[in-house]
Amino acid sequence: MNSKIWLSSPHMGASEFNYVKEAFDTNWIAPLGPHVDGFEKNLEDFLGHNTYVAALSSGTAALHLALIILGVKAGDEVICQSMTFSASANPIAYQGATPVFVDSEEQSWNMSPEFLEIAIQDRLKNGKKPKAIIVVHLYGMPANMTRIMEIANKYNIPVVEDAAEALGSSYKNQPLGTFGAMSILSFNGNKIITTSGGGALVSANQDWIKKARFLATQARDVAPHYQHSHIGYNYRMSNICAGIGRGQMEVLLDRVKQRRYNFEYYKNALASIPEIKFMEEPSTGYYSNRWLSTILIDNTSNKSIDREQLRLSLEKDNIESRPLWKPMHLQPVFANTPFYGDGTSEHLFHQGLCLPSGSNLTIGDLNRVIEQVVNTFAAVQV
Ligand SMILES: *Cc1c(COP(=O)(O)O)cnc(C)c1O
Repeated sequence: MNSKIWLSSPHMGASEFNYVKEAFDTNWIAPLGPHVDGFEKNLEDFLGHNTYVAALSSGTAALHLALIILGVKAGDEVICQSMTFSASANPIAYQGATPVFVDSEEQSWNMSPEFLEIAIQDRLKNGKKPKAIIVVHLYGMPANMTRIMEIANKYNIPVVEDAAEALGSSYKNQPLGTFGAMSILSFNGNKIITTSGGGALVSANQDWIKKARFLATQARDVAPHYQHSHIGYNYRMSNICAGIGRGQMEVLLDRVKQRRYNFEYYKNALASIPEIKFMEEPSTGYYSNRWLSTILIDNTSNKSIDREQLRLSLEKDNIESRPLWKPMHLQPVFANTPFYGDGTSEHLFHQGLCLPSGSNLTIGDLNRVIEQVVNTFAAVQV
C-alpha cells in the first residue's frame, strides 16, 4: 500500500518547538502567558488595519463570543452563509437564536449578495431585523466584500467574518479578517497554520476585544476573591498552543506560497481533462491563500465519473480527498430553518471535491494524486 496522502496536515517550521520549550523552561503552562501576548501581537501586526486580537481556544469559541458581544439573544435571527462548516452556524444556536441561511454565488462560492439583500428585506417584512451577518471565506477564497459591506451598511447590520480558512488571503489588497465588525480565525490541526487547536477574535474595536478576554476567562470581576457579575466561559488559548502559533506565524507566507503552488500545479497537470473545472479567483482583487485546492466535476457527459467515484478512486490509492461543505440548509439539524437561494450551493456540493492541499506535500505526492485522477478518467474513456 502506498503511504497516506492527507487532505491537509500540520506543517511545523523551525521555531515552534523552541517556543514550546521556552514555555516549559519558564513554567508558563497555563491559559495565559507571554506566548499568548506575543501571538496576539504577531496577528495584530500581520493583519494591520488597527486590529486587536484575542487568542482563544478555538474558532468556534471566537464566533460564540462575537455573537455574545453583539448582543445576540434567544429568539433573535442571525444571517449565515449556508455553504460552510457547521461551526459557523452552531454558535447561533448556542445563543438560542435562529440562523437564516443564505445561498452562495457562482463566482466565489461564498455568500450571494443578491440573496443576502432578499433575505434581509424578507426578515424585515416579517418584523425581525437580523442581529448579524456571518460571511465565510471558503477554502481561503474571499467573499464579495464590496457588495456585502454595502448591503450590511445600508441596513446597519454588523458583519462577522468567518476567516477560519482564510488567514493570508486578501481582498482588494486588504487582509481577510479586517472587514467585519468582528472576525474569527481558526488554528485547528488542518488549517493553513495550526496551534494544534485554537482560534482568535479580531476587531478594530478594542473594547470588544477586552470584553472577549474577560468573558473567555470566566468573567472574573476585579476583586481579591472570585467575584462575578456576568456568565463567563473558559475560552482562552493556552500558552503552549500560543507558542506553536508564534512559530507558525514565522512561516505563514511560505505556507500560502506553497498552497498556491499546489493549486497551479494541479491546474496545469489536469488541464487536459475537460470535465474538471478549477475554482478560479473571480477577478483581480481576489487573492486566495488556497487553503484547499478545489475542483468541480462535470459529470453530465457520458463518461459519467462523478465526484464520489473520483473520491473513492483516490481513496483506493490511500489518498484523502473530501466533498465540499454540505450546505447547512440541507443538514438534518437545521431542517425547517429559513433559507434564501436558488440551489447554487447544493449544485456545488454535488460536483465539488477538495484535493490534498497540505504545504508539506512533495512533488511526488502531487504527481501521485494527478496520476490517480488521470487514470480514473481514462478508465471510463470509450
Ligand atoms: C475550522 C472552521 C471553523 C471552526 O474553527 P475551530 O477552531 O475548529 O473551532 C469555523 N468556520 C469554518 C469555516 C472553519 O473551516
